[in-house]
Amino acid sequence: MNIVPMADILEDANRKNYAVGGFNINNMEFLQGIIEAAEESKSPLILQTSEGAMRYIGKDYVISMVEAATKNITIPVALHLDHGSSFAKTMECIRLGYSSVMIDGSHEPFAENIKLTRKVVEAAHSVGVTVEAELGKLGGTEDDLTVDEKDATFTKPEEVVEFVEKTGVDALAIAIGTAHGVYQGEPELDFDRLKEINEKANMPLVLHGASGVSDDDVRRAVSLGINKVNVNTDFQQVFTAKLRQLFSEDADLYDPRKYCGPGREAIKEKVKEKIEILGSKNKA
Ligand SMILES: [Zn+2]
Repeated sequence: MNIVPMADILEDANRKNYAVGGFNINNMEFLQGIIEAAEESKSPLILQTSEGAMRYIGKDYVISMVEAATKNITIPVALHLDHGSSFAKTMECIRLGYSSVMIDGSHEPFAENIKLTRKVVEAAHSVGVTVEAELGKLGGTEDDLTVDEKDATFTKPEEVVEFVEKTGVDALAIAIGTAHGVYQGEPELDFDRLKEINEKANMPLVLHGASGVSDDDVRRAVSLGINKVNVNTDFQQVFTAKLRQLFSEDADLYDPRKYCGPGREAIKEKVKEKIEILGSKNKA
């Protein structure tokens, strides 16, 4: 596969103070829309799959599709596992050819999160694969995992240095007020906390649950040290909205190419918008 380690992409973003999209793929149309938008925008790109998306698409299809999608491109692309749930899952993805994995130990106690993350980092780094970990716990729903708002916890800046030193992780997902899925109200981001974490960590930070966060807040988060912004729900929504619109306009529509094609175009436009906001345009 024509892919690079995520650390290479994030290192440049960290040095030049912009962010790269961690864009989730759910099917072929998502992949095509995302890759075309990034290539036309001359933007580096992080393609990611959740474990649920891997089950839905099929892991061999993921690899073959990404291989095909990256065959004739000029931009650097990383293939990343989003929210790896176990050591075994991350190893499976590394064997498949992923250039980056996230190990999500955020639901474990602090010491256990360190232990699990460290184990993945040791194995992944020995084969040049990047690792993202999470400290603090996001609310909301991602695939099979739902965290109640009252159980969500913000990242504690005083834990960051110890976590990063003990794990050797390359990128850190932090909880500063965003949530997975669709927001009930307007999300309020804790920018002071982000600033403090960035000063302490001095490494690429990742914002999850960015769909539904205002463009201005995303820009501000990037200016304060976020180098990777995950987007999934926004793309799912524009794809589905386009299909709904077409079906309501034409009840006789039956050819999938006539609605999945426009759905793919809708994703492509949204990806281009996101790339502008993150500041990764023309950075490839
Ligand atoms: Zn996430």
